[in-house]
Amino acid sequence: MTTKKSTLSRRRFLQGMSAAGAAAMLPCGLLVPAGANAAPFNAADYQVFRNACPRNCYDTCSIKTYVKDGVVQFIEGAPESTFTNGGLCVKGYTYGHRIYSPDRIKYPMVQDGRRSGKWRRVTWDEAMDRIARKILELKEKDGSLLGLGLTKYSGNFGITNYGVEGMMSSLGYTTRFVGTPCWPAGIDAQNYDLGNMWCNDPEDMVKAKYIILWGANPAWCSVHSMKYVMEAKRRGAKVVVVDPVFTQTAAKGDVFWQPNVSSDGALALGMARHILDLGLVDEDFVKNHSVGYEEFAAYLRQNVTVEWASELSGIPAQEIREVAEEFATAKPATVWIGYGMQRHTNGGASVRALDALVAMTGNVGKEGGGARYGHLQTWGFNYHAMIQKQPEGSVGFVGGAAKGEFDFTSGSGNSYSDRTVNINKTAQSILDAKDPALKMLWVSCKNPLAQDFDRNKLEKAFDSLDLVVTVDQFFNETVANSDIVLPVTTLFEEWTVNVSYWHYWLGLNEQAVKPMYETKSNIEIAAALSKKMNELSPGSCTFPQEIDTREWLEKEFNQGVYDLFGIKHWTDLKNGPVKARLTSSAAWNELKFATPSGKYEFKSELCEQNGHKALPEYKEGRKGYDKFRLLTPHTKFGLHSQFVNLDWMHEYNKEPYVYMHPQAAAEKGIRDLDMVRVFNKVGEQKVRVKLTNNVARDCLLMYEAWFGKGFDFNVQNLVDDESADMGAFKAGAPGVAIHGQFADIERA
Ligand code: SF4
Repeated sequence: MTTKKSTLSRRRFLQGMSAAGAAAMLPCGLLVPAGANAAPFNAADYQVFRNACPRNCYDTCSIKTYVKDGVVQFIEGAPESTFTNGGLCVKGYTYGHRIYSPDRIKYPMVQDGRRSGKWRRVTWDEAMDRIARKILELKEKDGSLLGLGLTKYSGNFGITNYGVEGMMSSLGYTTRFVGTPCWPAGIDAQNYDLGNMWCNDPEDMVKAKYIILWGANPAWCSVHSMKYVMEAKRRGAKVVVVDPVFTQTAAKGDVFWQPNVSSDGALALGMARHILDLGLVDEDFVKNHSVGYEEFAAYLRQNVTVEWASELSGIPAQEIREVAEEFATAKPATVWIGYGMQRHTNGGASVRALDALVAMTGNVGKEGGGARYGHLQTWGFNYHAMIQKQPEGSVGFVGGAAKGEFDFTSGSGNSYSDRTVNINKTAQSILDAKDPALKMLWVSCKNPLAQDFDRNKLEKAFDSLDLVVTVDQFFNETVANSDIVLPVTTLFEEWTVNVSYWHYWLGLNEQAVKPMYETKSNIEIAAALSKKMNELSPGSCTFPQEIDTREWLEKEFNQGVYDLFGIKHWTDLKNGPVKARLTSSAAWNELKFATPSGKYEFKSELCEQNGHKALPEYKEGRKGYDKFRLLTPHTKFGLHSQFVNLDWMHEYNKEPYVYMHPQAAAEKGIRDLDMVRVFNKVGEQKVRVKLTNNVARDCLLMYEAWFGKGFDFNVQNLVDDESADMGAFKAGAPGVAIHGQFADIERA
C-alpha cells in the first residue's frame, strides 16, 4: 500500500457495509458492495493511525487504520512489518463490524437478577458507587480484601491493560486467578530442557529443509506464518503435519499423521529411537552442549521401539522410520510445537520428548531449526500500570507470593501477598475459597462462561458470589451471569502497545477515534473506581484518579526496550512497527542455555524435583471414559468467544456443528445434518452434526466459539477441569487437559 493515488476501489469499510447486502473483498481490506463501481482511493483524504491486534493470536498484526470524519473507514495490515506483510486474517478484516456493531455494550448497566436479562442503564457514578461500597463492605466484614477476586486473561494483550491487575493491588491484597489455560505445560517443559521458552524468528522458517507442524494449524491460527512454510516448501523443504484432524494446514503438507489421542510423546520417542539406531545423532551437540544424553539414550534402548510407538500412535512403523530418518538428515529441520498437543494430562512430557528429538539431531540454536513453541523475549516493558502499591495497613494472605503467567508481579516487601487460585479450575476455586469466602468477582479481558471448564459448575460458583462485575464489549454469557457490566473500548479507541509471543515485531496502538458511547479503557475504569473509593473512604485506593493514557504508555517503556527495537522514543512507532534487532534469527544460537547446568538438559533434576521424570520419558495419557474422544479447538472465524458473534462471521459460519466420521455416524444411525445430543459426565450439548472424513473415527470435534444472538452452544458444557501434567512451575498453576476429553453422541 502506498500513499499515492491508487485505482483501487474504495467504499467506506464500515458505513458502506451497513447498506451493502453483499460485499466483495479487495486487497488491503477495501470493500465494495457487489456490482458497485470502483471509486478512486486517495490516502491523503484520510488520517492514518497505527493499531495492533491485541487478541491472543500468534500473529499480533500491525494495522494501518484510515479515519475520516472521526470514523474508521477501513483498515489494512501494516506493510512495514514483513510478518504482517500488508494483510490481516478474516477476523482482523471484521474489526470494523466490531467497533460499530449495534450489539456493543454502550453504557454501564445493572442487571436486576442474574440471567434475568433485566438490564437497566446507570451512570458511571452509580455503577462505581455500588462497586466501591461492596468492596468497602467486604473489607469491613473480613478485615481484608481476599474476598474480592480478579479473573482476567487474554481478551486484550495491550500492555497498559495490565492496569487491571494494578487496580486490584491498589485496593489491597485480593484473590487472583493465576496460570493460563493456553500453554503452561509446554512452557514448563521448555524451561526444564532449555531453561526458558524461546523460539526462532518465524520468518526464518523459510530456511528449514524439513518442517514438522506438530499439533499446529497455522492456516487457521497463524495465517501469516503459512507464507514461510509455503516458501520453505517451494525451496524444497518437506512438510509433515501431525494432527488429530485433517486441517487446512494438513492439506498443504507432504505427509499427514493422525495419531491416537495423547500418543504424541510415544511417536516422538519412537522417532528418537530410530535416529539413535541409525547413528544419526549430532555427536557434537550431545557431547558438548547437553547433559544427560547418555541416560536418555539408555532409556530409549531399554524402553522404546519403533513398533511400540507405532502400536500406541497408530502410525505405521515404516512411516515413523522414514520421517525420523529424513528429519535427522535434513539440516536444518524444525518442529513447530502447537499448543493443542500439550493440553493433555501428559502434555508436558510430550513437549519434552519433542524438544529432545530436535536437540539430539543438532537442530537447536540453528537458523531454520529449533523446537518452536513461543517466546517472551520482547516483553520487557515496565508494567507500570500493573505495579501499584496496596493502601497503608492492607492485610493479605500469609504464605507465598502471587505468581502469574508472565511472572511480572511486584514483590510487596512485606509478609502479605495476594491469595492465588488456579485459573483452570475457576468454578472449584470459587466454591473452595474459605477464610474468607470469595464474594465478589471482577472479570476483565475474559469470558469465563465460554472459556472456563465445566459450565454447570461455573454457574453454581457464580451463584455463590454476592457481586459479579464484568468489563466487556458484548452481552455474552459471562455478562448474563453478572450484576454489573462496564463497557470497554476497542483497540481503535485506546492507547497501548503490543508485542507477540511468536514473532519479533513491536507495534503501537493509537487511539484512532474517540471512544464510542460511554466506553472507557481498562485503566480509565481503574481510575474511575479509585476516585469513587477515595470519595467514600479516603486512602482506600492508591490507583491514580485521573489518567492520561499517553503518559501511562510512556511509563511502560525503558531503555532496554528502546535498544532492543532500535528506537529512541515510543512515538517513533507512529511511523510503523519495528522489529527487534536480533543477532541471529535462531533462539539459543550461542548454545548457552538458561538451565542450571548452562547446557541443554536431556536429564533435568529440576524437573524431577518438581515431581516429574528427570528424563523425557513417555507418560500415558488420560484413560478414555466415553466412546469418542472430544476435541474442542479454535474455530477459523474466532478467537475463543471473540469475533464469531459478528454479522460478517455469521455469514461465513452460520451455526455450530459437531463433526463426525461417516462410518462412526452410520454405526450410531446418525445422518448428515441430524440434530444430535453430545453428552458425557460433565453435561450435554444439542447441535447439528456434519459428517466428514477429516476427523478420525473415534473422534467428535466441536469448535470453541460463542455465536451470540440466541445460539445455545457452549463446548464447556462437555469439558471438565482435569489438569495437565505441568505448568505450575512457571505459570503458577498447572495447565488443563482440554483435549483429554471424551463424550458420546446420539440423535436428539
Ligand atoms: S486475529 Fe491474528 S491474524 Fe487476525 S488480525 Fe488479529 S493478530 Fe492478525
